[in-house]
Amino acid sequence: MLDSNTEQPAIECRNVWKIFGDKSVEALHAVKTRGLTKDQVHEEYDCVVAVANASFKAVEGEIFCIMGLSGSGKSTLVRHINRLIEPTAGDILIENEDINALDAKQLRKIRAEKIGMVFQHTALLPHRTVRENVALGLELRHIDEAHRLNVAQKKLELVQLDGWEDRMPSELSGGMQQRVGLARAMAADPSILLMDEPFSALDPLIRRQLQDQFLELAREMNKTTIFITHDLDEAIRIGNRIAIMKDGEIVQIGTPEQIIMAPANEYVAEFVKDISRLKLVSAQSIMRPIDDYLKDNTLDQSLCPRAPHDADLDELINLAIDHENPILVLKQDEEVGVITKRQLLRGIQGRDINE
Ligand code: ADP
Ligand code: MG
Repeated sequence: MLDSNTEQPAIECRNVWKIFGDKSVEALHAVKTRGLTKDQVHEEYDCVVAVANASFKAVEGEIFCIMGLSGSGKSTLVRHINRLIEPTAGDILIENEDINALDAKQLRKIRAEKIGMVFQHTALLPHRTVRENVALGLELRHIDEAHRLNVAQKKLELVQLDGWEDRMPSELSGGMQQRVGLARAMAADPSILLMDEPFSALDPLIRRQLQDQFLELAREMNKTTIFITHDLDEAIRIGNRIAIMKDGEIVQIGTPEQIIMAPANEYVAEFVKDISRLKLVSAQSIMRPIDDYLKDNTLDQSLCPRAPHDADLDELINLAIDHENPILVLKQDEEVGVITKRQLLRGIQGRDINE
């Protein structure tokens, strides 16, 4: 499990603001001093606040999802990371290096070698084969042909497109083209992947397959990934952590479970209310500490089933079906909590376990 507190941040955004428009600097000043809203900024300065004071750290190897509705600023924020966009204010660090301090040559190098990007619609060169498309970035870096085609071949195998390398892009389905895009982004073996709604334009079934395939790949590759989506289900399936954006601001950052159990505000609560909790909420979130439980109850522990603290609701339901007694929750072999049927059912409902 990645620990976002102790691991090295691979990517860090500090108080990033992006305001589009000719008077962006004045507009930012007005936002900070007079507290103008997005609409007021638009009216007074003819500027768009796309990203508002966004800060986050993604740790090495993490899949960090940024989720928000269309127009909430996701693409603008992620484009700062490879400096396709420069911030109105704030800092962007990659492995502790301020990327806005890089000169043109250093920036080209970092984009070519360290960061891969996949977009919603992968634009492939129509008159080149799939393999040549994947090798393109290496060609621009003057890597010799045999080597780059060999690398391209390996990356196509990774995304399970071997057999298609000599086809033209137009012969591929949308899902396959997105996989070519992913192979192309990985050709230089970057340590960072930026994925801006890579699966959003695909049919649900194909999308699901690509999510699974990507997760499998991500486990092997250990790349730090910023994954953007407007779909909370997708964010929950893919992300180690999720940042939720609204109107340019990051309103909450947390693991899927943290966000489901403690939405930061009404807006997030509304988003998460229909999400199935069975595979997300764990025993430790719905248990009562054992000492607390034993104050009001007696318990013959020899008759209780046991579950690890990270068992999910689905597993707890199976235990509850097979046993009448409350479930004992274990952490490092020690009994730390108790879950009664009542708590379990409240947990499934997403209501307070003490109700
Ligand atoms: P998302 O990716 O979440 O859909 P975007 O980052 O594309 O959101 O856009 C955030 C806001 O910034 C939107 O209001 C959008 O219209 C505006 N915006 C994005 N790019 C530009 C631009 N180049 N000029 C002016 N406004 C822009
Ligand atoms: Mg976008």
